[in-house]
Amino acid sequence: MMKIDILTLFPGMFKGPFEESIIKRAVENGILDIRIHNFREFAPGRHHHVDDYSYGGGEGMVLKCEPVFNAVEALKEPGQKLIFLTPQGRKFNQAVAGELAAEKSLMFFCGHYEGFDERLREALADDEISIGDYVLTGGELPAMVIVDALARRLPGVLGSAAAAHEDSFSEGLLEYPHYTRPADFRGLKVPEVLLNGNHAEIRRWRL
Ligand code: SAM
Repeated sequence: MMKIDILTLFPGMFKGPFEESIIKRAVENGILDIRIHNFREFAPGRHHHVDDYSYGGGEGMVLKCEPVFNAVEALKEPGQKLIFLTPQGRKFNQAVAGELAAEKSLMFFCGHYEGFDERLREALADDEISIGDYVLTGGELPAMVIVDALARRLPGVLGSAAAAHEDSFSEGLLEYPHYTRPADFRGLKVPEVLLNGNHAEIRRWRL
């Protein structure tokens, strides 16, 4: 089983994506163990402040060190990799998904607002990943994208072992077009080669 801990201020955002379809089944089948933690609970004081103004001025609030340090110290297991989601991180792709799927246990830290105190990155990050050259409001959607993509690579998550192996990018190729019944939908026809049962020809066409 692969264990994934996610540190976020907005646990509710994960409800839809992780409680439907293939990810839901992977959790139910004991292939994935996903735990969402609100690191606000690790912030000291009655008001549980998690952010503050930026030293030197500037717009926007910055996530403070202490709540995240506390959460990591309480939750991170020995050997578990802590990945920060940041626009500056290395670019996520299918190869990185495969690399992460080989880990036993991962923790993701989702930034929010204007970002987070740089000392968090220096002291805690084992890796930093970006899902693309654009800026999102938080690391929550990137964490969902990454967990979804790596889950497809875990044995037993997809119906057949071949399905992930044939996905686009896995073999350096993009996947071929799919068709399903009916063979003729309002005059839009399925390519003849797919209907004739000649598997060698079909393989060639798909390439
Ligand atoms: N001021 C920061 C900058 O310009 O780099 C952007 C902060 S962003 C509004 C808030 C948080 O969203 C970041 O700390 C990061 O965790 C997450 N984030 C935003 N875009 C991302 C991306 N493309 N990939 C991964 N995480 C991202």
